[in-house]
Amino acid sequence: MPTVFIETYGCQMNVSDSELMLGKLAAEGYAAVDSPEAADVVLLNTCAIREHAETRVIGRLGELRRFLKKDAVLGVTGCMAQRLGPRLLETDSRVSLVIGPDGYRALPALIEGARKGERMIATEFDLEEHYEDVAASRFDGVKAWIPVQRGCDYRCTYCIVPYTRGNERSRQLEDVVRETGSVVAQGLTEVVLLGQTVNSYHDGARDFADLLRAVGAVPGLRRLRFTSPHPNDFSDGVIAAMAEVKAVCEHVHLPMQSGSSRTLKRMLRRYTREEYLDCVARLRAAIPGLGLTTDIIVGFPGETDEDFAETLSAVREVGFDDAFMFKFSAREGTPATRLPAEMTVPDDVMDARFNELLATVRGISRDRNFRRVGERCEVLVEKEARKGELLQARSRDFKTVLMPGDKSMIGQYFHVELTGTTGSTFTGQVVRERAPLPMSG
Ligand code: SF4
Repeated sequence: MPTVFIETYGCQMNVSDSELMLGKLAAEGYAAVDSPEAADVVLLNTCAIREHAETRVIGRLGELRRFLKKDAVLGVTGCMAQRLGPRLLETDSRVSLVIGPDGYRALPALIEGARKGERMIATEFDLEEHYEDVAASRFDGVKAWIPVQRGCDYRCTYCIVPYTRGNERSRQLEDVVRETGSVVAQGLTEVVLLGQTVNSYHDGARDFADLLRAVGAVPGLRRLRFTSPHPNDFSDGVIAAMAEVKAVCEHVHLPMQSGSSRTLKRMLRRYTREEYLDCVARLRAAIPGLGLTTDIIVGFPGETDEDFAETLSAVREVGFDDAFMFKFSAREGTPATRLPAEMTVPDDVMDARFNELLATVRGISRDRNFRRVGERCEVLVEKEARKGELLQARSRDFKTVLMPGDKSMIGQYFHVELTGTTGSTFTGQVVRERAPLPMSG
């Protein structure tokens, strides 16, 4: 039986694509192994969003050379493969397979070609491709990642995704509902709907509100999440559906990127500071206890001290539970690289702003979390915690809770009391075994 090892970089969409690739290869008789040394086929499923992500993969390719089996096929898949295409084959003689996100259906045939000594490349976009008939081999035993949309029609000026994943297209609602039913039948009770701008979902007849209602009605589904939405696509209808569907969790990851309308305009985010804050207010009015997290970029070209101060004030005004924060890094091929060089924010300024933002976000999150100690909430136990004897669980509003217990509790729901916090994660004690059972609607 041939063996395969897949190493995944980047976002959840990539994790989901790796599950698809593994499913495709399992159907062809491949067995997954957990180290590259033991594999006949090694695939690095890559990310292109930041230069650092690509540098790591280049380093890893060099490292892998030393301990791959002599006749193993080494392939690069995902966004970096799409972006660099033949350049990857030219710069690394050991790589014999380069496949973009729309090429995974042909994976077994491409591997066959590579085994015969050919160097295979598949980087055509296919706007019809949803891998509808490919059963994913899922990595997570508790929750399922279900892509509902591929590609992106926004063109944020810093972002490479529209060029590596192509234009937006949505799956048919019935197919998403069918896949949800099948994962629930396998015992997974939490589903995360995935898309680059997931709430712009539209299958030609049904929008994201319809999708939430239809997926939320699958019997046995207990938690429904989605990532990542775009602020512009939170229509009143979508927010009403979120409030109405009981399985939809009280958490939204709402990328803000900047709190300055001037910067947002140069980023081509298509909303102003005020529109973003209005979106937050509408979500909070409809969904009590909503957890809010975000993404923020500092040092976008032309960002002044005043612009950055507006980002800090928006962060304080919203009071995010947490944020992913990034220093701007120009990506070759994106419109932001064409902004005049004099608009570049110097590294020392960028570093100082990043540190100030980090301290602000952490401080707010800490204060919010300390106020929560003593509250009770429902958690789903996800896995064993990395350190110690504890289990790692997740609340509906996306808080990480570490609690005592044994492995048999993984995949179960409990009511816990939040007994303490480090400022970012909580500790909890079970106060009631087994939270009440599934709901739908
Ligand atoms: S919405 Fe903007 S940031 Fe998000 S994937 Fe599309 S282009 Fe990139």
